[in-house]
Amino acid sequence: MFKQEIRDINGYHPQKEACRVVLDANESYINSPYNRYPDPVSTELRVLIGKKIGVSPEMIIAGNGSSEMIDLIMKCTLSTGDSVMTFGPTFSIYELNATILGGKTITYALDTSFRLNVEGFISEMIECQPKLVILCNPNNPTGTVLKREDIIQIVEATNAALIVDEAYIEFGGESVVDLVEAYPQLMVLRTLSKAYGLAGARVGYMVSCTDNINVINKVRPPYNLSVLAQAQGIEALQNTKEFESVLKEIVMERERISERLQAYVKVYPSGGNFIFFQTDFVGFYERLLDQGVRIRKYSGALVGYYRVTVGTRDENNQFMDAVEGAYGE
Ligand code: PMP
Repeated sequence: MFKQEIRDINGYHPQKEACRVVLDANESYINSPYNRYPDPVSTELRVLIGKKIGVSPEMIIAGNGSSEMIDLIMKCTLSTGDSVMTFGPTFSIYELNATILGGKTITYALDTSFRLNVEGFISEMIECQPKLVILCNPNNPTGTVLKREDIIQIVEATNAALIVDEAYIEFGGESVVDLVEAYPQLMVLRTLSKAYGLAGARVGYMVSCTDNINVINKVRPPYNLSVLAQAQGIEALQNTKEFESVLKEIVMERERISERLQAYVKVYPSGGNFIFFQTDFVGFYERLLDQGVRIRKYSGALVGYYRVTVGTRDENNQFMDAVEGAYGE
């Protein structure tokens, strides 16, 4: 699964023996909360994550958003010319990162309703023998939710490294994080950016079997999560109750707005904190922008498709007012 050169390196291991006088890391003695390097392995944060999702902290790496996890896994698996397989449309960073590393991306097209033909995907995967497979569940931007059985079927059909990106799993779909011990090729990505409202703090993590974690930790920069980011992550995970009510509200609002929006545009069912839709209305994006509402617009093969994030009830109503205003003219 991993490149030989990565398996051969030792990684960087900061010293951590307890002592009275700490003079090993070229830090400053200036008295501030930040004059020392952070815990290099985000111990407390990983313990809390482990408790929350029911896995051992040894099976977790925390990082600068799940974005950093995508980058690290690709660095460990892809050499120039190797391929990554995904279905699409999906999160564009996968292809961008793979390209930066000299890799190629094979995108298996979702059907016209943006659902995945699992048998078709598996046949192509067997034929192309990618080094890395990425399944985004729920999928950004289409909102597509994969069935757990379908994910298992795909995992069982490959020995390649396989990422399930669960950035939006709190909003819909079923996690496969409990399967990482059963399937050594499986790596599950999660983030505190969405359900925990910490996009600005940059805290994400991956879950996989300890052998994989040990390899990927060799490539991870030693102090990848700042003192601030670790503290914010810890605080969020100590107050999960607070986030659960917001989560429920977002899912309710997603359904309410999807329903209203359907009167005007083609809406796709979503398992995320966003709604994906299509309209032939020329200048739709600009019309909304004129009314002070910015949504995500797509181009190329996805011209006419849009993604709107579920906001507060008031923001969602303002979005709907702008849509109704555009159609009412
Ligand atoms: N995966 C998916 C599917 C996403 O949509 C995003 C953010 N838009 C990320 C990963 C990255 O999120 P972060 O780095 O904030 O954890």
